[in-house]
Amino acid sequence: MKIIDAHIHFKHSYGFDELAVAAGHQNNEEHLRKVFSDLNIEHAVVMGNNGIAEPHEYPSFMSYCVGFDSGHFSKEALASSLELVENHLRRDDCAGIKLYPGYNRHYITEPFYHPLYDLAGQYGKAIAIHSGATAGPRSYLKYCHPLVVDEAAADFPKTTFVICHYGNPWVVDTAAVLDKNPNVCADLSGILDGGLHDIDAFIRDNSGYVDHLKTWLRYPHAFDRIMYGTDWPLVNMEQYIDFISRLVPEQHWDEVFYENAVRIYKIKK
Ligand SMILES: [Zn+2]
Repeated sequence: MKIIDAHIHFKHSYGFDELAVAAGHQNNEEHLRKVFSDLNIEHAVVMGNNGIAEPHEYPSFMSYCVGFDSGHFSKEALASSLELVENHLRRDDCAGIKLYPGYNRHYITEPFYHPLYDLAGQYGKAIAIHSGATAGPRSYLKYCHPLVVDEAAADFPKTTFVICHYGNPWVVDTAAVLDKNPNVCADLSGILDGGLHDIDAFIRDNSGYVDHLKTWLRYPHAFDRIMYGTDWPLVNMEQYIDFISRLVPEQHWDEVFYENAVRIYKIKK
């Protein structure tokens, strides 16, 4: 099975070297190339963390979403950087824009975000949103609840929004937002993190949670808008493919593991 990983982080800090080792990996390009080749992963979409002014030069098997992460974000910076954002969106390897509302402490419905949605719509690129649980206690969860995406999606019907992490643990709300809005998609990254797992034991010990996930993944009948992703280097690649393939019905694997990402993130092959 050919795979696209629609959500990785590439070469940045936040202690990711250590997290990679905990997941049985190394946080560098050479290692990533080897793992991708072993597991038939053809392409990855990098979720940018370092602000829009940083050079975004990645290996040819990667696309990227230009990221407005905390530390690189303010209303003023956003307003003065629209031209720079547009330059990114013109590039073939730019798949869209990544927002981190829980960390930036703003609802994505704030009017200062609206020009980004217009631009993304104009260039046919996606707005990917960190949704669901956050890393660290300094963020505010209310801003990254997936239900917030409903309002943005309804007001900007020509723009594609991606609910990252399936909004976990608010997967019921994500299902409702996907069901209602044809311009909303989701990725399945980062649902299982924190190093190496025994997948059989995890599924056995968390059967209620796993059944809940399966139920609400099926509910919106949106397997044509749900993408495989990992949140690398936070998870072990081989284990994560195994885990997600147990959640998604086999008849939808080609779409979820590959085809949806090609279409949603405009990946040139
Ligand atoms: Zn991520």
